[in-house]
Amino acid sequence: MRIIRSIEEMLEFSSVQKRKNKTIGFVPTMGALHLGHLSLVRQAKKENDVVVVSIFVNPAQFLKNEDFSKYPRVLGKDKELCNQNKVDVIFYPSCSDMYPKGYKTYVAVEDLDKYLCGQSRPGHFRGVTTVVAKLFNIIRPDIAYFGQKDAQQAIIIKRMTRDLNFPLKIKVLPIVRESQGLALSSRNVYLNKKEKEDALCLWQALKLASKLVDSGVSDPKKIKLAMRTLINSKKTARIDYIEITSIDELLPVKKISKNCLIALAVYFGKTRLIDNIMLN
Ligand code: AMP
Repeated sequence: MRIIRSIEEMLEFSSVQKRKNKTIGFVPTMGALHLGHLSLVRQAKKENDVVVVSIFVNPAQFLKNEDFSKYPRVLGKDKELCNQNKVDVIFYPSCSDMYPKGYKTYVAVEDLDKYLCGQSRPGHFRGVTTVVAKLFNIIRPDIAYFGQKDAQQAIIIKRMTRDLNFPLKIKVLPIVRESQGLALSSRNVYLNKKEKEDALCLWQALKLASKLVDSGVSDPKKIKLAMRTLINSKKTARIDYIEITSIDELLPVKKISKNCLIALAVYFGKTRLIDNIMLN
């Protein structure tokens, strides 16, 4: 496994693969890898000749008051996991190479970046689409893999890829959860015991929503209220949003139909967690 820190070297590596007609599978991450990330790596490994994982805690997607400086950085452990999973290259650029002095160019997907997480994290998705566009240009993957865990991000990236004609496929893979249902996240390490216990209500609320839909409830207000009541019964929980939206434009639906996204963001103490389910 190679660790490539320089953009020039990464560009060169990718051109060599292209010349050899090798396909490149790409998994963008911020590191602190867990089984959710590794599910993407394993799929990429099955479908491509070469797998590149990027590890970059992207300053452009954090708001000023957010956890950029304390975000977990564990390169040693990440290297081991990538090695075990037969990753070919870890791309590990520095902030100053990705955003050199005088950096001025940003990519934004309009409107879709304003709803859901975009409301409480203005500018976040502009940071995500900018870094992903840069990484697509540097790594030139054939297929890039994203998790359904970040549903809005996946929808935005798909739109950007289509709108800007990036010559690659986007694949979105299911959420990997702990046995009791908590979605794996690099941020789960911030939770204390009580917060982690309370955080199980995210999955419980989503399951409750799905059960209500199955039993014929189609009014999003009723479903959101039931979810809200369940989550509010947990001491450490503070709801940021619960929304039921269409999966293309992310607009709130008036009546629940097959293709809806039920998404939520909830703080447990200071830690904000997100989760979702797609109804289909
Ligand atoms: P991150 O390092 O948090 O930026 O995540 C990198 C990629 O891993 C994103 O596409 C995430 O959606 C995906 N991911 C994170 N957590 C999970 C999970 N629990 N299950 C599946 N994919 C995940």
